[in-house]
Amino acid sequence: MLTMIFFVVALGSGFAAGQPGDVAGAAAAPTVVVDETAPVAVPEPTEQALRYYRSGNWLWVVEQVWSITVLVVLLATGFSAALGNVARRLGRSWFFTIVIYVTLFTAITTILDLPLSYYAEYVRQHAYGLSNQTFAKWFGDSLKSLGVACLVGALVLWLPYLLLRRCPTRWWLYSAVALAPFIVVASLVAPIWIAPLFNTFAPMHDKALEAKILALADRAGIEGSRVYEVDKSVDTKTLNAYVAGVFGTKRIVLWDTILKRMTERELLFVMGHEMGHYVLGHVWQGIAFSVLLMLGSFYVAYRTAGAVIARFGGRFGFTNLADIASLPLLLLLFSGFGLAVTPIELAFSRHIEHEADRFGLEITTASHSAGTAFVKLQEDALANPRPGLLYKLWRGSHPPLGERIDFVNAYHPWNSGQPLEYGDKFKR
Ligand SMILES: [Zn+2]
Repeated sequence: MLTMIFFVVALGSGFAAGQPGDVAGAAAAPTVVVDETAPVAVPEPTEQALRYYRSGNWLWVVEQVWSITVLVVLLATGFSAALGNVARRLGRSWFFTIVIYVTLFTAITTILDLPLSYYAEYVRQHAYGLSNQTFAKWFGDSLKSLGVACLVGALVLWLPYLLLRRCPTRWWLYSAVALAPFIVVASLVAPIWIAPLFNTFAPMHDKALEAKILALADRAGIEGSRVYEVDKSVDTKTLNAYVAGVFGTKRIVLWDTILKRMTERELLFVMGHEMGHYVLGHVWQGIAFSVLLMLGSFYVAYRTAGAVIARFGGRFGFTNLADIASLPLLLLLFSGFGLAVTPIELAFSRHIEHEADRFGLEITTASHSAGTAFVKLQEDALANPRPGLLYKLWRGSHPPLGERIDFVNAYHPWNSGQPLEYGDKFKR
């Protein structure tokens, strides 16, 4: 449930697939005349990039197995039931029992996950030369994430547990309906309340570039757009940009690393891609998709939890799903459903990313600059431009960079006077 709320906050927004990258330390590139009709070759991945790709796949498997193992152990040893009893003693009332259980559970699972996340987020990124983060920043960010997770859990989890008690046969439907507005609120406040806990956001320093971006936004029909730059260089050498927020908090955010590394034309293509997400309604589509996923998760839990409790309830130490001690069981069922539907979720994500690429190309007609932007992403992120099918199905939120470069080389209807897919959305 918590992950689902964070999922929507991150969905369909990033420009890159989110792997850290090794910037070659280039200063802002000089303006050169670019032949936008020249195709761009997909570079062969280096030996180091292939090593990063293969070890990353194994790490992903280990992380999945670990998170499932932790939940099974907390259930099967009766630890969760004991934690529920502690929460009842300390909390006294039903509501505070839930708040205390959620806080303790989140803290304990975070501690159990800490060695693996320390390796994945800190040690490994430094070993591949992809990170700028100090240990203090990593640890501080981990503590802040824990605080946010506890708070969000305490704010939302009482709702499905209340409905589990009151409406044992319809709780899954009512919970999804009741939590849908929370997803919208999370999308609304994440860029102004959560993201600034971790990094500093500021107006763009380069005013000339900002003016060009705002002119592009105007052509894309986006009014009152806000563009921010964020000091991600304290964390990573990766390049990225993303859209976030809804209503009054919608914005485009550029990492300072991408501003430093890419040329103006490359950046304008990236901005065109991000604007495409807004104009094509991807943020709202992502929210709707998250609500559907939540409904599916709740329904699967509703249909299966009873049989699991009937079979193992004695060992778990609880007999009713409405007992807060069932949280690890619910999360286990959610992650089983989540793994099964990940290929659908990611296919949707790759589809909207592909359409955002098309939008960015059509509004800028900067084919060559788009291609070289992707090459920089690939090289700086140690990305594999042509990953295997399993990677694509279970991990590929964006089309592989090789396919994105192939597309920008092949797609240029404006050269032959053919109609644009999104031409009617541009202001003349
Ligand atoms: Zn995107």
